[in-house]
Amino acid sequence: MNKDQLDILFEIIEDLFSEDTRIIAEYLNNVGERSEQVISEELDTKLPHIRKELYKLNDISITKFRKTRDEETNWHTIYWRLTDNWEVNLINLIKNKLEDIRKDLLYQKSNSFFKCINEQDYIIYETAMMQNFSCVNCGEPLLTYDNQEELDKIIENINKLERFLK
Ligand SMILES: [Zn+2]
Repeated sequence: MNKDQLDILFEIIEDLFSEDTRIIAEYLNNVGERSEQVISEELDTKLPHIRKELYKLNDISITKFRKTRDEETNWHTIYWRLTDNWEVNLINLIKNKLEDIRKDLLYQKSNSFFKCINEQDYIIYETAMMQNFSCVNCGEPLLTYDNQEELDKIIENINKLERFLK
């Protein structure tokens, strides 16, 4: 895997989770294995947050850990590293994600949406109709909602993932 491909993989980790998650993954890719405490110190981020991010990556087989115990102090140390085939695991995840995004695109393309000015969420035509085009929370009339921004974002995501899988 070349540098560009690696960069895209890390970018996808950021898209899936957060910038912090990407920073941790990149860090582990550079240094190999480190204890939670060292990761926390070197990245200047609080340990519980580091741990949470590491477990997220662990859930998708990007990171793994081992535990050691100090005989004298009984203190546990957890060491983390990237899994040997984390790239393959991530690519498989991307393939699944691409399927989901394509379904999302179809949903966005084949529905018209409505939204209350006071709410964050938008709803499909059928739901709006059942509510007589007024908001169930505040009673304001529901207005048509232009989902072009969502469509653009989805298409951009699909293009990025497809470019990567080529
Ligand atoms: Zn409302």
